[in-house]
Amino acid sequence: MITVKPVPAFNDNYIWLLQREGAPDCVVVDPGDPVPVLNVLAEQDLALAGILITHHHPDHTGGVGELLEHRQVPVYGPAGETIPGRTQALREGDTVYLDALDLELGVLEVPGHTAGHIAYYGQGMLFCGDTLFAGGCGRLFEGTPEQMYQSLEKLTGLPPDTRIYCAHEYTLANLRFAIRVNPGNTALQERLQQVEALRAADRCTLPSTIDEECRTNPFLRSGDPDVKQHAENWAGKRLTDPVQVFAAVRAWKDAG
Ligand code: ZN
Ligand code: FE
Repeated sequence: MITVKPVPAFNDNYIWLLQREGAPDCVVVDPGDPVPVLNVLAEQDLALAGILITHHHPDHTGGVGELLEHRQVPVYGPAGETIPGRTQALREGDTVYLDALDLELGVLEVPGHTAGHIAYYGQGMLFCGDTLFAGGCGRLFEGTPEQMYQSLEKLTGLPPDTRIYCAHEYTLANLRFAIRVNPGNTALQERLQQVEALRAADRCTLPSTIDEECRTNPFLRSGDPDVKQHAENWAGKRLTDPVQVFAAVRAWKDAG
C-alpha cells in the first residue's frame, strides 16, 4: 500500500511524499523547497528515490537542484517545459514506473495554468499540481479558458473516487469564492463548514475526490443553472456555452 503525506512548504504549498508503507524509499512531487524535504528524509530515515514535477514554476521546482546534490535520482517532468535536472521528459499517455514504490503512474497533459503542465494518476491517486484545486482551479498564466476547460474535463473523467493531491492549501479561500458563484448548492455549503473547521484546527484539507469536486467546485459546474446565472450577473451578459461560463467564473475569481 502506498501512503501519501503532505510536506508543507512556503506559505501554502504541499510537497507530496509517496512511500510504500514500511519501506525506506520515497518519491516527492513538486519540491519547490529542498529544506522541508531534507528534514523529513532525515527525521524518518528515508531515502529519496525519485522526483515528479507537474510544471515549471519555481514553487514546484526550486528544490530539485539541492535534492540532486543530496542524491542523484530520476527527475520526471513535462516534455514541453524547461525543468531543472529533468531526466525523463513526459507526454500524454506516457507511463512512469517508480521502481522503489512498485507504482505505475499515467501521464495526462493538462495545459492552462502553464502550457506544458502535466498530471500523474494511478492507483486511485491524482497529482495535478496547479491545475485542479480543492474548490478551485489554477490561474490561466499560459493557456486559454478553452484549454483549461478541456484539461479539467480530462481530470473529471477519472473514476469518481480518485483522490486529488493538488499542490496548494487554497481550499478555504476557494470555497468562500465558490459560495458566491453557487450559493444554492447545499453540498457546497456543507463542505465550506467542514473546511472552515479543518482550517481552524490548522489541518490539511486534502486530498479531496473527483466526486466531491464535481459536486462543489464551481469551475467544474458550468452546466449548473445557478452557476451560469451568477456568472452572467457578474459578466453583465448572456453566456452561451460552458466554456464562456467557465471563463467568466475564472475572470471573476481573478478580479477578487
Ligand atoms: Zn504554478
Ligand atoms: Fe504553485
